[in-house]
Amino acid sequence: MSARAYFDWNATVPLRDEARAALVAALGATGAASSVHAEGRAARAVVEKARGQVAALVGAEPKSVIFTSGATEANMLALTPELVVLGKPYTCDRLLVSAIEHASVLSGGRLAADKVERLPVTAEGIVGLDALRAAMAKGGRPLVSVMHANNETGVIQPIAEIAAVVHDAGGVLHVDAAQTAGRIDCDIAALGVDMLTISSHKLGGPQGAGALVLNGPQPAMPLIKGGGQERGFRAGTENVAAVAGFGAAAEAAARSQDTAAARMAALRDRFEARLKAEVPGAVIFGAGSPRLPNTCLVAVPGLKAETALIAFDLNGIAVSSGSACSSGKVGASHVLTAMGVEPALAAGAIRVSLGWSTTEAEVESLLNAWKKVVATLTKRHAQAA
Ligand code: PMP
Repeated sequence: MSARAYFDWNATVPLRDEARAALVAALGATGAASSVHAEGRAARAVVEKARGQVAALVGAEPKSVIFTSGATEANMLALTPELVVLGKPYTCDRLLVSAIEHASVLSGGRLAADKVERLPVTAEGIVGLDALRAAMAKGGRPLVSVMHANNETGVIQPIAEIAAVVHDAGGVLHVDAAQTAGRIDCDIAALGVDMLTISSHKLGGPQGAGALVLNGPQPAMPLIKGGGQERGFRAGTENVAAVAGFGAAAEAAARSQDTAAARMAALRDRFEARLKAEVPGAVIFGAGSPRLPNTCLVAVPGLKAETALIAFDLNGIAVSSGSACSSGKVGASHVLTAMGVEPALAAGAIRVSLGWSTTEAEVESLLNAWKKVVATLTKRHAQAA
């Protein structure tokens, strides 16, 4: 079998060498980070080094980083009705989430379903500031959650502007930066974000680690009660090895971010230009908006994502459908639906996401596979219709 080409970097990415080395070194150690003996103190030092590395990635203080098992858990920790703002209790009575959020945010975290309101996006996949202003004007004590960049389209949201609107109205802003931390600048203060979610496995660390980074406001309710680890926000013995790998990956990602971004953008742009020229009718979603340098969500009329994914896979190419599909099933993308894309076209959306080690040869095989898959499947779908 010829070499496979992986184009699903928005789902998860390979472990970086630096992360593997830190992970393996920490796995070989004995202590639990809460123990007072030398072994415990050594484990604590590993966790605190990682905390500093993750903090540096987003320009925060190490003490602001709360480690979790991933972005899903960080989102759950942040989205709580009880917060502390400027040292005083802040009870949220409204949770405003954009219609294109990850399922963990859309579901409302720890707020009751009837407190959750959805903010619309434009046809280009951007959260509308006027809609946000109108929603904030209704008053109450809102918590707002808008992602930094969307995992399907790669569209980058105007977070600094959103933060200004939210703060002018006295609200609190949480941002899910699972897709951006380590890929584009993600400075918590420059963005004006109050609570920021990061995932380890999207930036080259191991799966099963993540963080919520605080910048003032903080949850008043622990995510997990118990032994008081992570400042009482998330009890349980720290996953020292995973956290060590996360920290090392964060440092490595920061170091190579700009070079990797420029490389990926050049490859992605060339892919899109060739695809448009060689596959008639290809529609690229969110192309008019600022996007992550590595992401392309595309549909070709007449092509169905569920069959196309299998055909790509058989051709040695790993891509994904536009919709999040934790169970492997392909459903209509809530993101494209929110952008007003016609259901028949949305059903064909394929997400191509590149990474730091993607090569020109891999992009070439992807283009060849596109032509092959489109030629066979659109013919077959047309015959079946
Ligand atoms: N938020 C976004 C935007 C994501 O893309 C993902 C991963 N698909 C998550 C949250 C969940 O991340 P994790 O796997 O670390 O829980």
